[in-house]
Amino acid sequence: MSDQPDRTINVADPRDAKAIDGPELRAPQGSAAQTNAVEPGLKPPATVLDAFGRLLANLRVSVTDRCNLRCQYCMPEEEYVWLPREEILNFEEIRTLVEIFSGLGVVKVRLTGGEPLLRRDLDQLVRMLAANPLLRDLALTTNGLLLAGYAKALREAGLHRLTVSLDTLRPDRFRALVRRDGLADVLKAVAAARDAGFSHIKLNAVVIRDFNDDELVGLIEYGRDAGVEVRFIEYMDVGGATRWSMSQVVSRAEMLQRIEGRFGAIQALRENGAAPADRFLLPDGTRFGIISSTTHPFCGSCDRGRLMPDGMWLLCLYADRGIDLKGMLRGRAPRGEIALAIADAWRGRRDKGAEQRKATNTRHALFRVEDLRQDPHREMHTRGG
Ligand code: SAM
Repeated sequence: MSDQPDRTINVADPRDAKAIDGPELRAPQGSAAQTNAVEPGLKPPATVLDAFGRLLANLRVSVTDRCNLRCQYCMPEEEYVWLPREEILNFEEIRTLVEIFSGLGVVKVRLTGGEPLLRRDLDQLVRMLAANPLLRDLALTTNGLLLAGYAKALREAGLHRLTVSLDTLRPDRFRALVRRDGLADVLKAVAAARDAGFSHIKLNAVVIRDFNDDELVGLIEYGRDAGVEVRFIEYMDVGGATRWSMSQVVSRAEMLQRIEGRFGAIQALRENGAAPADRFLLPDGTRFGIISSTTHPFCGSCDRGRLMPDGMWLLCLYADRGIDLKGMLRGRAPRGEIALAIADAWRGRRDKGAEQRKATNTRHALFRVEDLRQDPHREMHTRGG
């Protein structure tokens, strides 16, 4: 393995927008999971609780830090420092770590990025993970640009659920926000995903005051007509959101008030305590969700860790540093030893990052650009959102 340093890159350079091409191992033939249930007779996974009694049950796996969009709330800069390619986990390494996590109680895995569909042959990784009988839920979050071409293969490989990120239905705003065209491709991809057999597709929309907060109704109506459920996300002061300010945040309370003004009385739906979105029902039967991590953090029930593309494991989206699992894996540590390290770290977990941010008096962007350049692990596009 070389010690090649990170290089600062230019977003206009096509080499830097290209997929990461790692040598990937093939999935076993016919291994796609056809069921959500744990096989009869299978040893049930352990349960690991953190210092506040929160389960380790959920893992987000960021498969690449590269992205083909430059959303103003996530990647507003012209240049980025990327993780070195040789540090990126290959599919076999990801499978091994996910198996270790699932043995410790993780039942839900979400692939994310960067843009996960930039990772070549992602369907092969899906096939490998879908063969893990301990996983009840295998999902993917994508910006949708490349999804139309992959939806069928992902479905056949055993992916259970899809979330597509889309913040606006106006082509001019889309271009201004992400700095390229592509709205039509995303809308086409949502239809292609439904045709490929995905049901329960979710649409993530970050709401930013004076940018797209006049599209709450339009997005709900689009979701209703397209058969997808919209989830509005409060703008968060995460790494990468270097232009964040509290004045741009539209709170859950304000969103509900505006939506109610158009559709009538909203009913709150009861949900599983660890889910990030609060879900609501409109009088016409349409459902939608709100993720209000900025004004109503869900740290109290947060059951998720984040595996970054190079095997750093984060215990909280807001954590300053992660735990290097790739080092153990490539250092040939036995699985049991890695499992113990993970369990020990989780038992000591006291992170409540979003609550701490909320309690901050003068709240501003979490990291400065210089801090992000020094350590790209702090970027939202590396952490996986
Ligand atoms: N590229 C994929 C996508 O666009 O869905 C996956 C990665 S993206 C980082 C995951 C999610 O994080 C997206 O839904 C995105 O909108 C959200 N996100 C990024 N920055 C955010 C911010 N500052 N506040 C709230 N959500 C944010």
